[in-house]
Amino acid sequence: MTAKSLREMSCADDYDPDSMPVAKAREIIQAYLTPIAGTEKVNIRAALGRVLAEDIISPINVPSHVNSAMDGYAVRFKDLNAHGETVLRMIGTALAGKPFQGKVGDKQCVRIMTGAVLPERTDTVIMQEHASADGQNIRFGGAHKQGQNIRQAGEDLAIGQVVLKTGKHIRPAELGLMASLGIAEITVRRRLRVAFFSTGDELRSVGSPLEEGQIYDSNRYTIYGMLNRLGAEVLDMGVVKDDPASLERALIEAAATADAVITSGGVSVGEADYIKELLSRLGEVVFWKIAMKPGRPLAYGKIGKSHFFGLPGNPVSVMVTFYQFVRDALLILMGRKEDIALPVLKATCASALKKAPGRTEFQRGILSQDANGAWSVRVTGEQGSGILRSMSEANCFIILPETQGNVAPGTLVEVQVLDGLV
Ligand code: AMP
Ligand code: MG
Repeated sequence: MTAKSLREMSCADDYDPDSMPVAKAREIIQAYLTPIAGTEKVNIRAALGRVLAEDIISPINVPSHVNSAMDGYAVRFKDLNAHGETVLRMIGTALAGKPFQGKVGDKQCVRIMTGAVLPERTDTVIMQEHASADGQNIRFGGAHKQGQNIRQAGEDLAIGQVVLKTGKHIRPAELGLMASLGIAEITVRRRLRVAFFSTGDELRSVGSPLEEGQIYDSNRYTIYGMLNRLGAEVLDMGVVKDDPASLERALIEAAATADAVITSGGVSVGEADYIKELLSRLGEVVFWKIAMKPGRPLAYGKIGKSHFFGLPGNPVSVMVTFYQFVRDALLILMGRKEDIALPVLKATCASALKKAPGRTEFQRGILSQDANGAWSVRVTGEQGSGILRSMSEANCFIILPETQGNVAPGTLVEVQVLDGLV
């Protein structure tokens, strides 16, 4: 890839870098992403949240034996009268983990519990609710099917079957599934290393008092939280002053150690000039004004092998641009093959929303079920890009497309669910 190719691509089809549509920017970024190659072997418990780097092939049948799906009696179907009752003699019991060892002869049956291995020569299980016992003599009603209430060996998973594919995000269900196959260790992608720092002379870190005109650096905390949730290995590089030499040092150090570098601040019109100049020397970076609100300025590119994301400084813009561009990109770099995009669903908007056509807006919403069980969404209060409280109150983004104008209450809108992320 050359600097020209990234710039060329971002201007392809006459896309204006001063009004770049959200979907186009996402597409351009994703064209530059190749998953990291490194892998490591880990114990399955340590694989929670990681990305599988091999296909998992079942080494056994699950279940390993034909077994009962019910508590009842294991019988030979041919012993049952086609019409009317049958009485069979019970000669023993099969429990889960304690198979019946004897031989089942004519007109005999075995008491069987769920999960127990089906005794040899039996082929059908009758639920205990359909039987009545008189000592060892068990009376069954009519109308049974051969093979009923039986789980076949390999019914869940057969030997040699691909159970999980490379790129799978490992969740509790996958841990259990691998344990059910007796697999103790698997190969996962190594963790993605992501370095981040804040830029701004006005920023102070928590713990030091504020002087006039200073503010606390909150972006490093939201970015830290969002990266942790994604399972990245985070490298917090602190606050970097708005001066070219400090920025250059920080960028070079970050790009040398991390797979991706995220900065906040310093990409807006007034400030971007020296960061632009710096990045054009260090790597291949494009600066866009995205046709979105909040979160207009965004820089993306490469510094050496590292992917660079220059996010705007406003705290809400940071979170919105992270969820719209960075999150998906990092998941792809981590090797994830599915469940990458955040889920989008439709809900009735309970609030009147102010919106001018021309930009995609990501208003902060609160999604809830109304009395009838239908999903409705209302907007959090003030929508300013500096009001982080709106993100804290929200559990979704209300996505209003570029062409959309004001929204009347009762309109169906798209929402991107953030629950568990914000
Ligand atoms: P900038 O994009 O650097 O012009 O910043 C835009 C606004 O976001 C300014 O009001 C900054 O003070 C504020 N800001 C920038 N970085 C941070 C940060 N790390 N934490 C909180 N606010 C920030
Ligand atoms: Mg700044």
